[in-house]
Amino acid sequence: MELENFRPQSKLVTKITLVEIPRFPAIDAHNHLAEPFGGGWDQKPLQQLLDLLDQAGIRMYVDLDGGWGEDILNTHLDNFKAPAPERFKIFGGVDWSKWTELGDGFPEWAARRLRVQKERGAEGLKVWKEFGLHVKDHYGELVKVDDPRLVPIWETAGELGLPVLIHVADPAAFFDPIDETNERWEELQVHPDWAFTSPPFPPFLSILNGLESLVTRHPSTIFIGAHVGCYAENLAWVGALLDRCPNFYVDIAARLGELGRQPYTARKFLLKYADRVLFGSDMGPYPEVYRVIYRFLETDDEYFNYNAAPIPMQGRWHIHGLYLPDDVLEKVYFRNAERILLNHG
Ligand SMILES: [Zn+2]
Repeated sequence: MELENFRPQSKLVTKITLVEIPRFPAIDAHNHLAEPFGGGWDQKPLQQLLDLLDQAGIRMYVDLDGGWGEDILNTHLDNFKAPAPERFKIFGGVDWSKWTELGDGFPEWAARRLRVQKERGAEGLKVWKEFGLHVKDHYGELVKVDDPRLVPIWETAGELGLPVLIHVADPAAFFDPIDETNERWEELQVHPDWAFTSPPFPPFLSILNGLESLVTRHPSTIFIGAHVGCYAENLAWVGALLDRCPNFYVDIAARLGELGRQPYTARKFLLKYADRVLFGSDMGPYPEVYRVIYRFLETDDEYFNYNAAPIPMQGRWHIHGLYLPDDVLEKVYFRNAERILLNHG
C-alpha cells in the first residue's frame, strides 16, 4: 500500500457534539463571495445565500472580494449590500499593478482610491498575500510590507475608519524546502503555486517582522491580521504583537488545524486575548464548514477532523475543542467585530 492511500479510522470512543448554530449569532469577519474562495455568489440567487447564512446562524458576513476596480466593488455592493445592508460588509483593495505606470505617484493615488471606495460603500480594506511576496515597485524591486513609501495608504485607511484586514506570508512550512520533512507536503502537491520556498522568496520571518513594524508604526489604523495574525503556528509571537499594539486584531479564519492541534496554548490565547479575536471561516457561506468551527470553539470534543473534507487538507492531524466560556464566545462571535466594523465614521 502506498502511504497516500492510508486511511486510518480512529477507534477512539469519545463524545461527538453536533453544533448547528453558534452560541451567539455570529459575524463572519473573514470570508469571500467570489471565486475561488467564496463560491461565485455573483452568479447565484441572493436568497439562497441568505438561507445558508440563516441556517448557519451568521447574522453578518464580511465579503473581502470587493477588489480594486470600482466595477467589482460596485457589483458586490449592488448584488449583496444594497438588497441586504445589515447582512453584508464589502471590503475593497489596492491595485498594486498600477505602481509600474504611476511610479512615485502610486502611494498617493492608491490612498485616493480608498476615499473613492469608501464613498461607494466599501467598509474596509483587504490586503492580499501577494503584498510582501510578489508586489513590485516601478523599479521592479520587491516591496517590503513596511515600505515607508506606502504610509499614505495606511494613514488614509485610519483616517477614513477603514479597518485593514491584512494577510501576509502564509503557513510557515510553505517557505521551507518541499521535502520529506515538510508538514504541508501533501497540500503543496495539490497547490504547487502555494510554495514560497526561501530563497528565492524572502524568509517567512522577514515578512512577519515587516507586519510587526507596519502595525506598530500606524497606531491610528486598525489592522486585522488574517489567519491568527498570519502566524498561527506561533501564538506567543502573535500575543506579543497584540500586547504591544492595541490597534491589532486577529481572525481565526482557516486556521482551525493550527489552533486545534495546540489546544492548551490556543485556549489560553483565546481567553487572554478575548477582546482581540474575530470569528471567520474563509471557506464560503456553508453550514457544514461553520459547524466544525462551532464545535471547535464551543465543545470539549477530542480528536476530530478540522475540515469538512474527508482528508484534512492542511495536514493529516486532528484537533481538540476549546470549550470557551460564554463571555469569550460572545466577544469572538460578534462583539469584537461589531466594535471594529460597525462604529466607523
Ligand atoms: Zn480569505
